[in-house]
Amino acid sequence: MVAEHGATWNLSPCLIDLMHETDRLFPGRSTASDGSIGDPAHAARVSDHNPKEPRPPGWVDAVDITDDDAAGCDVGRLVHHLVASRDRRVKYLIHKGTIWKAYDSGGVPAWTPTPYTGPNPHTKHVHVSCLPGERFHTAAWWAAGDVVPGPVPVPVPQPKEDDDMLIVKCAGKPTRFLAAPLCPVIDTMTEQSLLLVGVKAAYFSAESYDRLLNHVTRSFGEA
Ligand SMILES: [Zn+2]
Repeated sequence: MVAEHGATWNLSPCLIDLMHETDRLFPGRSTASDGSIGDPAHAARVSDHNPKEPRPPGWVDAVDITDDDAAGCDVGRLVHHLVASRDRRVKYLIHKGTIWKAYDSGGVPAWTPTPYTGPNPHTKHVHVSCLPGERFHTAAWWAAGDVVPGPVPVPVPQPKEDDDMLIVKCAGKPTRFLAAPLCPVIDTMTEQSLLLVGVKAAYFSAESYDRLLNHVTRSFGEA
């Protein structure tokens, strides 16, 4: 069960409903990638997992639900249903390298599947953000019955592991987040390479930090 309340924050009621409904429908499902309030990595960037001011109530407007097809909790099915029904509570959904926004954005019409380029491609879970005005809207989230709709279109192949985001820390410099595809590059170019394999965060000397980010910028045009 994800955390629903803290001293200064509250998970939006409609998302509490979503988690309870999911637990009820798929008993024994994996919750390995479930989440509500953001971890320190989320706190360093803009995310609906971070509590909104003022606190309290400090609304948290996002949850992550683990994809567990074996237990019936096929979150691709949930996405399909929410997109097809234009669910009024949804602000955006992210799953398997794709984002669906419930509003027009940058010339892209609402609900159009678009490649998601953030640091975590969400291959193991779906991210559901709700609209602030719909926090108290209760209704079933999942489709009724056992009808399994067709697959959700996924425009861009993404790396298998979605937890391989590297958090690069250095005293006096901004913390940076590097996505999984950069691991091999980092692996061959810094003496910290061994440290980076299998860890989520590492501290660097100023010199190594600059070298790493310069290399990433040269190779990929961004860090
Ligand atoms: Zn999320």
